Amino acid sequence: MTTPREGNRLRALPPEYVDRMRCTHCELRNMKLPGTAGGLCIPCYAMERQAAPRRTSQGMQLANFVSDPCMGCGSHAVDANGWAFWCDACGMQVAVAYPIP
Ligand SMILES: [Zn+2]
Ligand SMILES: [Zn+2]
Repeated sequence: MTTPREGNRLRALPPEYVDRMRCTHCELRNMKLPGTAGGLCIPCYAMERQAAPRRTSQGMQLANFVSDPCMGCGSHAVDANGWAFWCDACGMQVAVAYPIP
């Protein structure tokens, strides 16, 4: 299985912020993924993606795979590391940002 790739990807969240700083939107959960204005937790990332869907270079709207609970299996065993999102229960994984080299 190949990992789905998203267009217009943001830069990865610096590893020193992941799970250490609070989400810039809700300030309740730790930031896990890059948002357009700062680091976001998984639910806030999903909300931002819904409000501002990303498009491919051909103008196709991209589906968002990031959610808590997992939209594939409904499990809360989801996590992210600053550029990739995954679900431990069903094994889904998606790269949402460019990894830090
Ligand atoms: Zn949040
Ligand atoms: Zn799942």
